[in-house]
Amino acid sequence: MTLAPWLTKAGAFDVEHVGGIPHFNQTIDLDAPPAAVLHTTEGNWAGSMSVFKQHYAPHFMVGYDETEGRVRIVQLVQVGTIGAALVTHNWLARVQVEVIGFSKETPWVFDDETAAAVASLMAACKDAYGIPLSRPWPDGVYGKATALDPHRNAGQFGRDAGWFGHGDVPSPDSHWDPGNLQWSVLFAKAEAIDGKQPIPGTPVALARPCACAALDQDLIYAVEHADAATKAAIMKALAA
Ligand SMILES: [Zn+2]
Repeated sequence: MTLAPWLTKAGAFDVEHVGGIPHFNQTIDLDAPPAAVLHTTEGNWAGSMSVFKQHYAPHFMVGYDETEGRVRIVQLVQVGTIGAALVTHNWLARVQVEVIGFSKETPWVFDDETAAAVASLMAACKDAYGIPLSRPWPDGVYGKATALDPHRNAGQFGRDAGWFGHGDVPSPDSHWDPGNLQWSVLFAKAEAIDGKQPIPGTPVALARPCACAALDQDLIYAVEHADAATKAAIMKALAA
């Protein structure tokens, strides 16, 4: 199995490519259940990008670019090789996404445009990389900022498919981003987008050129499956 290394489109959003990002050539573990890890940058677009140009780059960064004045999706690292936004276990995440935002302990979700971009990327990652639109826990259950947190060490990461937060990933990771994120809101938005975009590398079926073509196919089938006498009568009629 090979995964499309680069996305170009996620829902209505272009996926822009940013070069010059240091990354590892280590491959991800394709035998692990398809999983993704979502992070929050805890900083703005420019500051986060400057960090990822030095180290810790995820596959994708999503959010409001204050310089360009718009929400963007950029891909920094090709899928198939590991992202580097976890301390370790990076090989268990087919996709890692850093979203511009700040973790909260109260229930929260991204602003509408950022949420639309994240949901679009989730839908694209389901289609392209098999990552289901689900998380092993309900909203409100998330890891705390310690590597010893029992939640994050309960064994789901590497065993279950779906989306995880950094706070759901085991020791020695201790970051708790994105905190009390309302994942169900994002999954619902992604479900609405899912299935409405082509899968990379899969040819799109062409529509039949016209109704006549369908009729011709039916006629050919009928002639081919007719008995000998009927077939002879049809051939005689066509020749006339
Ligand atoms: Zn993180």
